[in-house]
Amino acid sequence: MKIAIGADHGGFELKSSIIKACSNIMFTDVGCNGTESCDYPDYAIKVAEKVALGEVDFGVLICRSGIGMAMAANRFQNVRAALCFDAATAEQTRKHNGANVLCFGADKITAEDAIATLNAFISTSAETDERHTRRQDKLERADRLSDFSGLAKYDPEIYASIKAQVLQEDTEINLIASENTSTRAVREAAGSVLMNKYAEGYPGKRWYSGCIPVDTAEELARQRACKLFGADHANVQPHCGSAANMGVYLATIKPGDTILSLSLDQGGHLSHGSPVNFSGKLYNIVPYVVNKETECLDYDELEKQAMEVKPKILLSGASAYPRAIDFKRIREICDKCGALMLVDMAHIAGLVAGGAHESPVPYADFVTTTTHKTLRGPRGGLILCKAEYAKAIDSAVFPGMQGGPLENIIAAKAICFREAMQPEFKEYAAQIVKNCKAMCKAVADRGYRIVSGGTDNHLFLVDVKQKGMTGKDAAAALDNAGIVVNKNTIPYDTESPFKCSGIRVGTASITTRGMKEAEAEQIGNMIADVLDDITNLEVQKQVKEKARELTARFLVP
Ligand SMILES: *Cc1c(COP(=O)(O)O)cnc(C)c1O
Repeated sequence: MKIAIGADHGGFELKSSIIKACSNIMFTDVGCNGTESCDYPDYAIKVAEKVALGEVDFGVLICRSGIGMAMAANRFQNVRAALCFDAATAEQTRKHNGANVLCFGADKITAEDAIATLNAFISTSAETDERHTRRQDKLERADRLSDFSGLAKYDPEIYASIKAQVLQEDTEINLIASENTSTRAVREAAGSVLMNKYAEGYPGKRWYSGCIPVDTAEELARQRACKLFGADHANVQPHCGSAANMGVYLATIKPGDTILSLSLDQGGHLSHGSPVNFSGKLYNIVPYVVNKETECLDYDELEKQAMEVKPKILLSGASAYPRAIDFKRIREICDKCGALMLVDMAHIAGLVAGGAHESPVPYADFVTTTTHKTLRGPRGGLILCKAEYAKAIDSAVFPGMQGGPLENIIAAKAICFREAMQPEFKEYAAQIVKNCKAMCKAVADRGYRIVSGGTDNHLFLVDVKQKGMTGKDAAAALDNAGIVVNKNTIPYDTESPFKCSGIRVGTASITTRGMKEAEAEQIGNMIADVLDDITNLEVQKQVKEKARELTARFLVP
């Protein structure tokens, strides 16, 4: 049994008595070491940190009343400090609250009673039944708001916005295919002091002094990205996915050169050459399309087109393509027509990391991605490339197109890459796809046409026009029922891009909450319930209640 123990001057004597009496316990004594006046938070912080890190089993903190110590320790995540005066209370707080730090008021308890209380505390296990676990989870998750409680007074308007987002995440079923719900660790790094540093350049070669802390974070991010995806080189600085694509274009081609890419209305992305985007303005974009019958990529057609067009870059990867992409075949086409192979795996990066979609990295010259979609990291971009292009990519990103990198976000990317290397992430990625297939089948079984007839990944597209509604109206009705999707064009759409004929549905976020096929199927049916009678507000109300029930059982991280 390892216990970290600390006290201020008022608790020093009781601390000494406890250490002397309990020879069966391995104490880490963090001080203080005498009765000279000192500040209780200094010792509470030392003990609480050891408990939070799991370096010890429990903590003990003593001051005159015990109250200041408990207050200070309870500011740490996963620390639950309880002020106790007798064995019965100690036992109860272990059982019901999973308390892991015991506080004593030296003026309020004898050494003998304190030792008996400590023994009761360490020999009682926390209850792990559903009720108590749920309450402890809620206790820890209060941080989702309490982290920003300072803002409540400092800037109430922004606090209100954050609080509204917390509430929305807590109570709505998020099926936006390009979104996910980040882990607490990722959010912590993103909000950290690393944001204060200017670090133009790269680790070890910065323009400003004082970059050692951020160098460590960025180097870790680069190494982990390479390891996770098996890449030669990683540039972790692009501020977003569009910037990652811009970095590759800048490094490889000249304005006016030809890019062959999937058009936006067929599932491509703005930054793949849309006329309203820089990519469409600077480069000669030739769009390819999916087959009108199968609504899938037709690689033979693509090869034919590539041989005619002879693009400098053949770009694959999409924002709304529900099927697996054959990267090996695309490599063959690139070799044949002499194009560089760029894969933008923004949507499927998490599936690739978790082995639920074939990786483009062995085939492509360049792979770009966002880090915030299925990969579940912070909002940001990433470029992976073969060693021979490392220098060109790095100088294209800085100084080519960006100034100082966002080192706080880069640290959060590093955390995300590490999370994605864990065995649980493999299960997560596989579950996203299983959930997507289950939800897609439920919707299809209710008579809705699914674009391409199904899904291989984390998203599917429903043709709602076939049922006489627009994607815009369908999404609005679902939103009113607590289910968030987006309107989306479908291949060969006849509606305007503001109305669209389809909705796009993705399962990354609900899978993060721990939902499985049964819940996915239930949500599929909820979607159909709403769309079957799109103007029926009573149905929307009922579905919203079901959404509340579901989200209350599956908490966001
Ligand atoms: C989301 C996405 C991007 C980039 O998005 P940003 O909003 O710029 O981060 C790039 N490519 C594809 C295919 C995407 O889906």
